[in-house]
Amino acid sequence: MPIDAKQPYDDQNIFARILRGEIPSKTVMETDHSLAFHDINPLAPIHVLVIPKGDYVSWDDFTAKASDAEIADFVRTIGEVARMTGADTQGYRVLSNSGKRGGQEVPHLHMHVFGGAPLGPMLS
Ligand code: AMP
Repeated sequence: MPIDAKQPYDDQNIFARILRGEIPSKTVMETDHSLAFHDINPLAPIHVLVIPKGDYVSWDDFTAKASDAEIADFVRTIGEVARMTGADTQGYRVLSNSGKRGGQEVPHLHMHVFGGAPLGPMLS
């Protein structure tokens, strides 16, 4: 069920629980402000999610409220994930679904990193 990008942060959402270690995930990398882990239902051979550690519902929320340090860390982590996974060698896609019309399901900002195959015009 798509979420409202402007809704209050729900600290019981699945990615908040991953950040607290209550639910397992397959970590790709971790920094001071960000965590990258494999998507549980991959839509491409490489499908990694990058999330900020702070309580941000959506891309909209994050870009309005996060510090420059958090934003820089998040963007750099996405690039590093592409290099670590080899997605960068043949091209890849970075995508964030935001809010109801964007098709966002989990109410904690996440950036999808897709790669490892030709992706076609759209994915997810
Ligand atoms: P979105 O539709 O952009 O909100 O995407 C949510 C993504 O989270 C989907 O690709 C799911 O497969 C993924 N997902 C949901 N639960 C988990 C989980 N426990 N671990 C890893 N990925 C998950």
